[in-house]
Amino acid sequence: MNYNSTRDKNKVVSASQAIAQGISEEGGLFVPQSLPQYTLDDIKSLTEVDYRGRAKKIFSDFLSDFTREEINESVEAAYTAEKFGSENPAPISYIDSGEKKMALLELWHGPTSAFKDMALQILPHLLTKSVKKTYAGKEAVILVATSGDTGKAALEGFRDVDGTKIMVFYPVDGVSPMQKRQMVTQKGKNVNVVAIKGNFDDAQTGVKRIFTNPEIKDKLAENNMLFSSANSINWGRLLPQVVYYFSAYADMVNAGKIKLGDKINVAVPTGNFGNILASFYAMNMGLPINKFICASNSNNVLTDFIRTGTYDKKRKFYTTISPSMDILVSSNLERLLYHLTGEDSDKVAELMKSLNENGVYTVDGELKAKLDKYFWGGCCDDENTQKTIGELYRNDNYLCDTHTAVAVNVYNQYFEETGDKTPTVIASTASPYKFAKAVLESVTDEKLPDDEFAMVDELSEKTNTAIPGPLAGLKNAEERFSFECEVDEMPKTVLESLSIS
Ligand SMILES: *Cc1c(COP(=O)(O)O)cnc(C)c1O
Repeated sequence: MNYNSTRDKNKVVSASQAIAQGISEEGGLFVPQSLPQYTLDDIKSLTEVDYRGRAKKIFSDFLSDFTREEINESVEAAYTAEKFGSENPAPISYIDSGEKKMALLELWHGPTSAFKDMALQILPHLLTKSVKKTYAGKEAVILVATSGDTGKAALEGFRDVDGTKIMVFYPVDGVSPMQKRQMVTQKGKNVNVVAIKGNFDDAQTGVKRIFTNPEIKDKLAENNMLFSSANSINWGRLLPQVVYYFSAYADMVNAGKIKLGDKINVAVPTGNFGNILASFYAMNMGLPINKFICASNSNNVLTDFIRTGTYDKKRKFYTTISPSMDILVSSNLERLLYHLTGEDSDKVAELMKSLNENGVYTVDGELKAKLDKYFWGGCCDDENTQKTIGELYRNDNYLCDTHTAVAVNVYNQYFEETGDKTPTVIASTASPYKFAKAVLESVTDEKLPDDEFAMVDELSEKTNTAIPGPLAGLKNAEERFSFECEVDEMPKTVLESLSIS
């Protein structure tokens, strides 16, 4: 199977090239030319194997220039019980209250306690193999813009991986104290972490500009290096996310929650649109999905887009208690547009140009009708996010983080408005302990301690839940990175860090 660029359909690359390069030269994103089609019998076979078996099947259908051994090796190394706490890296907690049936798909049992681990534990394996195939002998330089969770998960995935260097940019005031602590204490010889004086969108735009700057690219080439991306613009980030939707469905069948062939809904706390897009690919491969519920926080650009067909990023940017969703330019929406326009790369290029130049675009009626058919958009502010955490904890004895709570709240809105009783998978994207202050505040009326780690301890005591090991260990870890730079200094910072300026 080959891949096209969303902005130039004539561009055709192999899977390994798409993963090694991360983004196409003209700024488009790589998308599969066609999707493997799974019958209910195929899905039934997935119910008979474990997560790793499911992953191997799906990876081998997409990564046609990888050998079976390469795929097996990558999957076996990534999804171990040691790294994810149990044999199933993506277990489900069911909450049935009357006609409302929620399946919380917990994607945060990996080493950094956020769902990004599901993809970033395997991406380094796929990426180093991809680079070997297409750019033998080159060193891959991974640049990452992060709103908090990607950065840490990428650092942890790539640390001390031969043939790679990784550099992470995060918004100086845009991540939670725990997220910051996780990044600035990162261990490894090939890692670097920089705070930028701007928000996540500035970081992401800055990184995209560096990727597509021909002078910088030449400079890297002279030094036998090559940029790649660990952000969800990289196909190697998205593909692993397709797996857990199939896996969740298979687990629900096995648990007797649904019958093979029944439809489910999917509700996803959304930022860059990667996670929810993976479920859309799963549906287009044959997974029975009825509705995609796209949940946003106060940065509700996607809610407005789904409801009106106009994407308008010219609006106030809010710093919220769900920082990994504080995003106004959702990169992966570009891939959805490509598929919904019937793979019209000229049209997508035009919409993206309008977004770049005017900050806004509007889709035509035909595309809007398709959006309406599949998607439902809703949003939830910080106050209601905390209310939802409190209610879920008191009523159902389930402690969730601030991002997951946004999805639960928006799913509740959807249920009220539509009365749709379809069992709904809710992507649970982070451990509550990554956002201890906001979560603790939601479940107690008592005064909070000042210190982040005291709050973590109190949350554990109060709710009788365990602190994830890697987070507990951060308390006494040494801080290694304190460098800050302006957004327009990012290119210089990258070259200096690579010692090739
Ligand atoms: C990254 C992230 C999201 C948003 O996911 P996208 O794929 O960017 O839409 C939601 N919740 C958490 C905890 C995250 O880390």
